Amino acid sequence: MHLLMALAGNPNAGKTTLFNELTGARQHVGNYPGITVDHKEGTFHHKNRKITLTDLPGTYSMTAYSAEELVTRDYLVNERPQVVINIVDASNLERNLYLSCQLLELGVPLVIALNMMDVAKDRGIEIKAEILEKLLQVPVVPIIARSGFGKDELLDACLRVTTKKTQWNPRDISYGEDLDTILTELVATIDETSLLGESYPARYTAIKYLENDDQILEKGQKNDPATARILEEIVTKTSDHTQKTLDVFPEALIADHRYGYIKSILRQGVVTHKFDTDRLYTSDKIDKVLTNRLVGPAIMLLILFGVYQFTFSWSEIPVAWLGNAFSWLGNMVENTLPDGLLKSMIISGVIDGVGGVLGFVPLIMFMFFSIAILEDSGYLARVAFMMDRIFRIFGLHGSSVMPFIVSGGIAGGCAVPGVMATRTLRSPKERMATLLTVPFMNCGAKLPILALLIGAFFSDDKAMYMFLFTMLAWVVALFAAKLLRSTVLRGAPTPFVMELPPYRFPTLQGLLIHTWERTYQYIKKAGTVILGISILLWALMTFPGLPEEKVAFFEQQRQEVMTAATAEVAGEIEIGAAELSEQAATLSAQISLINNEETETALQNSIAGKFGTSLEFFTKLAGFDWRTNIALIGGFAAKEVIVSTLGTAYSMGEVDTEESESLGVRLKNDANWNRVVAVAALIFIMFYAPCFVTVVCIAKESSWKWAIFSMTFNTIFAFGMAVAVYQVGMFLNLG
Ligand code: GDP
Ligand code: MG
Repeated sequence: MHLLMALAGNPNAGKTTLFNELTGARQHVGNYPGITVDHKEGTFHHKNRKITLTDLPGTYSMTAYSAEELVTRDYLVNERPQVVINIVDASNLERNLYLSCQLLELGVPLVIALNMMDVAKDRGIEIKAEILEKLLQVPVVPIIARSGFGKDELLDACLRVTTKKTQWNPRDISYGEDLDTILTELVATIDETSLLGESYPARYTAIKYLENDDQILEKGQKNDPATARILEEIVTKTSDHTQKTLDVFPEALIADHRYGYIKSILRQGVVTHKFDTDRLYTSDKIDKVLTNRLVGPAIMLLILFGVYQFTFSWSEIPVAWLGNAFSWLGNMVENTLPDGLLKSMIISGVIDGVGGVLGFVPLIMFMFFSIAILEDSGYLARVAFMMDRIFRIFGLHGSSVMPFIVSGGIAGGCAVPGVMATRTLRSPKERMATLLTVPFMNCGAKLPILALLIGAFFSDDKAMYMFLFTMLAWVVALFAAKLLRSTVLRGAPTPFVMELPPYRFPTLQGLLIHTWERTYQYIKKAGTVILGISILLWALMTFPGLPEEKVAFFEQQRQEVMTAATAEVAGEIEIGAAELSEQAATLSAQISLINNEETETALQNSIAGKFGTSLEFFTKLAGFDWRTNIALIGGFAAKEVIVSTLGTAYSMGEVDTEESESLGVRLKNDANWNRVVAVAALIFIMFYAPCFVTVVCIAKESSWKWAIFSMTFNTIFAFGMAVAVYQVGMFLNLG
């Protein structure tokens, strides 16, 4: 008979490792607690039995707080696997058994895999599996998932469980006299109509009612409104009572008793510490300093600042090389292809557009490399831990830090995985607040424009300004979160639980793989999406072109200056070589002035130009001219497009120069740009509507209502700030 088994456990307990060990499937072993919500399946054989194993998402609990927890619970009650392997981290038993407790209460057929026995041993922790087995009354098998030790014993234990009765066997845990009495009352009511009886044991449903579990409450309402109302009334009364007498909600009492239950079990000789219990392990010793209340944050800022110094100073030379390479390519095409639309498209649409983006690849690589060091060594988790104190003030949660960092909190992430990483957040409101503010971070796509404008206008101390703009992103995101959490997303905070994995020395191979994976995604985007958009925008900036009479007008002007010059030369009987070349230079300057004006008029007359110009009266408030407007509109498709569009718009205005200047220099010399405009533009770009892909992601993770909210809210908010910066800056004459 085909066996269905499921694997449940806390994040980082070793689920993926055991899953791979058992099924032979190769998977990425990541360290973000449970970024993927989809479950994975694998099939294998043991003792001639065919077994299908499902890897459930990592969870600390089984309430309706987060998507992972719901997925886990729903899977168990709907699919009813014959065995559930609960993998627990032996070196962190107390925390891990919290989930086991809830699995026992649900009554699923359970086998506990006591993982990381090697780590526990190294730390001098000795665990008596047989005592634990006796106290919990379920099989407990010590294993080392990484080496495969104990896996056959584990599977044997699983097979033994399946030969027993198939009925679920829910465990009763006492929640103290007060709640136990209420639970009995609730259970009696539930049993009468067997509410939700097909999925949950009555006592489990009763506990969930006391815990105020959204999903169960909703299901109860739907299935049997009358019974649900009776239950809700009892719960409200109980809740009022516990709040009055003990100043806590029933759910807190329940959690306390579960921990009490675990403690009492562990104290009965299950765990013995061979070494002195408060002995500090290397990781803990390092943490004494690195996560110290006072020194920790200072060190953190220093480390992050170091990342900027490293990224910007080391990447300067390769970025310049690439820039030169693209200039050379542009000049070569300029000299070889005949004038016309094709040439214009290749230079302005393809080379300038994609080159502007690819030129930043070295910078992005260095940034990703630094982040990989922080991540692989385990320091990034400490950053999250320290930030929790600050995040709390703004109505967020320590678990929000990871999404922020993934989105570009240390510059150079992407809001798309950031939005998806919010799935680990337990409270829906904290999750929404995080989801809506992660796009404020400086993602990898915003880096090129930051680097461009900072390089052009603040070249005195690039790393410093980059750091400041990153800090600004955090400050704005946090205040925006606070604003959301005190208006549309009001609600109480949830407690913080997060693993601090031991420090590890990163391997060079791991670092290179991480760096390459992310850089490659960036390059791929530049090669496909951005190439397409760049060409589309080039077309919008080129067509419909100048009307006949305008073309004729400029042609006539050119003719006139030429005729005038010829007449002048012809008037002279004898003319020196020096004088002649001077005449020629004047003529060519006059012609290029006319050419410039012609290109400019053509651009302004194009579809994009007209649109940009029609917005100008409004965007002038923030100092943006019509060319910037075109770029900003393109930026909604993908933020990288801003640089490439500016590149195209400003290269079209430039004709006949011997050496094509870099975009930064061109902006710096442009009358419309100065330091104040640069800051206003940066602020607008950092905070306006997220790119299209992110918006779709937000919609998928929440709803289109929130996605549209995010677009409009961010754009209005960003424009307000840009206007304020521009107006104040110009008033103070800082430009
Ligand atoms: P998951 O989050 O539950 O899927 O956990 P993973 O399978 O990703 O494991 C987290 C980390 O613990 C990885 O770095 C594993 O290599 C490591 N790990 C897993 N099992 C063991 C074990 O038995 N011993 C040791 N030393 N490390 C382990
Ligand atoms: Mg995993």
